[in-house]
Amino acid sequence: MSDAESTSKHDIRKYIVYETCLMELFEVCPVCKRVCTVKNKVLGTFISVKQLCEYCEYSRIWQRQPLLDSTPAGNLQLSAAVYISGASFFKLQRAMHLQIFLYDTFRRHARMFIEPAMVHKWNHSQNVMLQQLSEERKVILGGDMRADSPGHCAKFGSYTMMDLNTKTIVDLQLVQSNEVGGSSHMEKEGLKRSLALLDARGVTIDSIVTDRHPQIQKFLRDNNITKFYDVWHMEKELQSNYIKLAKPRTARK
Ligand SMILES: [Zn+2]
Repeated sequence: MSDAESTSKHDIRKYIVYETCLMELFEVCPVCKRVCTVKNKVLGTFISVKQLCEYCEYSRIWQRQPLLDSTPAGNLQLSAAVYISGASFFKLQRAMHLQIFLYDTFRRHARMFIEPAMVHKWNHSQNVMLQQLSEERKVILGGDMRADSPGHCAKFGSYTMMDLNTKTIVDLQLVQSNEVGGSSHMEKEGLKRSLALLDARGVTIDSIVTDRHPQIQKFLRDNNITKFYDVWHMEKELQSNYIKLAKPRTARK
């Protein structure tokens, strides 16, 4: 498919049509006005209707949506919409008796089309961003890790690096705790990998804003990278210590 063709199909507006309303359109022969024989073929959200008039031999095949090779465009686009929005396939399926394809089909769409497309798009965008950053002199980054569960039992952590001048995510690193000897080491590893990538792409960092984790502080100090504290982390700490703060003690440095 050329870009122009797929874009135009993607941009066409779609409607939800109730089966009873749809089938009304095929009940009567448009030529002789007598009752027709009607047969349906359903594939997920796709339906085609074959209408045949046994009196005047009028016939037609009507399709509800365009096909991309043999895949109905609507099926693929619905999979993409569910996947990209983070919605639940099963909840959507149950919500309103929507005629939809099987979960296996959704996973196949994700595996074969959506995930490769997202990875391709991300790699391309990241290359462009890193190229631009490598030409800038005052690159200020913000970095932090998000873990799959709170506390010290997290299995995965994703480290996110943002360019604070443009407020754009420039890198993501996924770290698994057993790669680095425990979840408490994930944050430093994520930061380290991200900085190594930026360095390999020729990005010179002016400074980084991050949290006050001692390992992180030490790592940045050892690597001579100017650091600033993320106020959000301090605010969070203040909130959790609110009661203690009512009885002031020596402020932490
Ligand atoms: Zn007819």
